[in-house]
Amino acid sequence: MKITAIRAYQVDLPLKEGRYAWSNENAVERFDSTIVAVETDAGITGHGECCPLGPAYLPAYAAGVRAGLKELAPRVIGLDPTHLAVLNRRMDEAMRGHPYVKSAIDVACWDILGKAAGLPVYVLLGGAQQSDVKLYRAISQDTPAKMAARVKGYRAEGYTKFQLKVGGDADVDIARIRACRKALRDGDVLIADSNTGWTMHEAARVAQAVRDLDVYIEQPCRSYEECLTVRRRTALPFILDENIDGMGILLRAISDGAMDVINLKISKVGGLTRAREMRDLCISAGVAMTIEDTWGGDIVTAAIAHLARSTPAEFLFSATDFNSYVTRSIAKGAPQRKAGRMTAPDRPGLGVEPRPDVLGKAVVTVEA
Ligand code: MG
Repeated sequence: MKITAIRAYQVDLPLKEGRYAWSNENAVERFDSTIVAVETDAGITGHGECCPLGPAYLPAYAAGVRAGLKELAPRVIGLDPTHLAVLNRRMDEAMRGHPYVKSAIDVACWDILGKAAGLPVYVLLGGAQQSDVKLYRAISQDTPAKMAARVKGYRAEGYTKFQLKVGGDADVDIARIRACRKALRDGDVLIADSNTGWTMHEAARVAQAVRDLDVYIEQPCRSYEECLTVRRRTALPFILDENIDGMGILLRAISDGAMDVINLKISKVGGLTRAREMRDLCISAGVAMTIEDTWGGDIVTAAIAHLARSTPAEFLFSATDFNSYVTRSIAKGAPQRKAGRMTAPDRPGLGVEPRPDVLGKAVVTVEA
């Protein structure tokens, strides 16, 4: 089988809540998502999606996905999409870094491999370790009272895990964490995600002030080294996200005992091929994972569901149903949340079918 064409489509994904805010006064009102179609000479087409969380979250931005695809796609034409290790090696030779550009191509090729084999992607990733997976809900940064009210509202919809967007004023953050923990029941999970927003002394203050609560601290500071100092002086369970962007830093972080949980975002590490390598290493090292992405719609949610479903329950801290945050559906057959959980489709490939009327005309076309 050979890749004959790569097309990219741009779709705006407006937020149901109207706005999503996190640390350092960052906020977005609509997500700019890129959907990639990889076509083959076998008549099979696969799809992937990449949706950066604005330009200020990671070294990635929405227009960069499309610009990168124009560079990379000509080097991928003619390759066999089912030889995923070869494909990834060739992409890394053709373009250094920029994992988020490669991610949607890699995911589309997993979709093709599944369709060619007649198997769902979760089977190819190791098989069904779970029938369905737990989800967390991200709570946009706001006043402590408004965030606690949102936690209660989403709890009534079935979620039991909540990730608060903190990383603002340390005193307000302490009040946010206390108000939201009060809104929860025993057994519910609360995560305070600073998204790199605190300096070390602020992180130390917050961790000390909430040490009596059942709460996880996530990515308190900007650098890995700053986070490690905070980790070493708090007894609270600890999550790293932004800093864990590849195998090298994951190996170092495991060796340092730098966290209990990582957030494994598919586009942050370059696609399902790399994410699976990191997932398997985490399982061997006893590190649990939230499996998710920077953002996205139905195709990103499906890719998350397949990787999460093939991960043992004790190592899957949670996953994310991004398609439930946005007002627009880009594909039929995507996972839908039920009682705070979702599952991956049993159909071949990712099991989703893009809606041509929503995708519109291709904004990038590269043909053999
Ligand atoms: Mg995070």
